[in-house]
Amino acid sequence: MRRHLFRRGFDWGRGRVLRTFCRLAFVAAAMLSMPLHASAAPAADAPASAVPVAVDARLAGDKDRTRLIVDLDRVVDFKVFPLADPYRLIIDMPEIDFRLPRGLGQSGRGIVTAYRYGVMGRGRSRIVMDLSEPGRIDKAFILEPVEDQPARLVVDIIGSTREAFLAAVAESSKEMVVEQSAIPMPVGPNTHEAGAKPMIVIDPGHGGIDPGAVSGENREKDVVLAMAKALRDELKKTGKFEVALTRDEDVFIPLADRVEFARSKKAVLMVSLHADSLSAHEVSGSTIYTLSEGASDALSAKLAEQENRSDAIAGVDLSDKPDEVAGILIDLVRRETKNLSVTFARSFIGDMRKVTHMNKNPHRYAGFWVLKAPEVPSVLIELGYMTNGDDVAKMTDPEWRVHMAKALTKAIDRQLGAKIGSIASN
Ligand SMILES: [Zn+2]
Repeated sequence: MRRHLFRRGFDWGRGRVLRTFCRLAFVAAAMLSMPLHASAAPAADAPASAVPVAVDARLAGDKDRTRLIVDLDRVVDFKVFPLADPYRLIIDMPEIDFRLPRGLGQSGRGIVTAYRYGVMGRGRSRIVMDLSEPGRIDKAFILEPVEDQPARLVVDIIGSTREAFLAAVAESSKEMVVEQSAIPMPVGPNTHEAGAKPMIVIDPGHGGIDPGAVSGENREKDVVLAMAKALRDELKKTGKFEVALTRDEDVFIPLADRVEFARSKKAVLMVSLHADSLSAHEVSGSTIYTLSEGASDALSAKLAEQENRSDAIAGVDLSDKPDEVAGILIDLVRRETKNLSVTFARSFIGDMRKVTHMNKNPHRYAGFWVLKAPEVPSVLIELGYMTNGDDVAKMTDPEWRVHMAKALTKAIDRQLGAKIGSIASN
């Protein structure tokens, strides 16, 4: 299943996408004419880590030539490729243990406005650089460690034109393998067969390279994963449901793959969990979203837009997504699915009210990508806001999580579990 999930994200690695596997054992003085600040190499007697460790990273240079330097404890293979709109350069590497100072990459230099790094999937890591304008990789190489110097990954970026940048993107995407979804066209919203356990898919948002909203030490990706696991445990305790998580560890999963996962599992309900941020700090409480192309208000629209940027943050090519399933019949399925989603949402609100503070307008509509499976009733729960202190205190409290998980389970059970009971007793 993992392979399936990451298929679209990673098979582009098969090609030679601006591939730069240079292993230079020597130092060309000209290449290193820019300042390279000395940084601590791992102590010689430290036990070697199972995966390569990144110990430091920095930007140097200016708009004419910007250099990214990453210090590693050993040489790794890597490839660099561009993505457009927004302009980004992506460095893909094997799994890296990023032991970098917090906050690194939040400010830019030269043509790079910011960069992010993290795990993309099992055995894969990535660095994503945001560019203020089109850029071209002039040089990309990695230097072997020498004496007290760590291995150094160096990427030099110089100015380019939009035309040339787009040509480079097209060239690299030619190598990417996009497989079409093999899931058949739905004929109606998913339902479970009599006597069978309904499949519930829980989708903790973000993960890996994409932390989601961050508040001090607390990251949305961790908060929602902990909640997802608590909910899974409570649902399983009932013995009435099959439960699957789109991720049960700290990895990134593209939005389309989350939806595809729920479809392939024939889920009768997908619950996406989030805890986002809004510039309006006074906004608090839990909110439930169901799909609508027109958002119910400006804040909902903003939140959905923020949420749908997850792929851009992680450097996933948005044009890589399959076309939405279209057609009149599908529209009918979609409408029915939407009605079921709304029923679930109302049920959740009823039970959540008993254990937590709900937003003053607890059911809202917006165009979240993860809610778009035509045959899977889907809701997105904003547990609270990382921008609100009271909410953060609750969401990081294990006891609160259990109360919330029990409330959500009760709501799901009322919608689905009762039916199973009556089928079984008939
Ligand atoms: Zn989120």
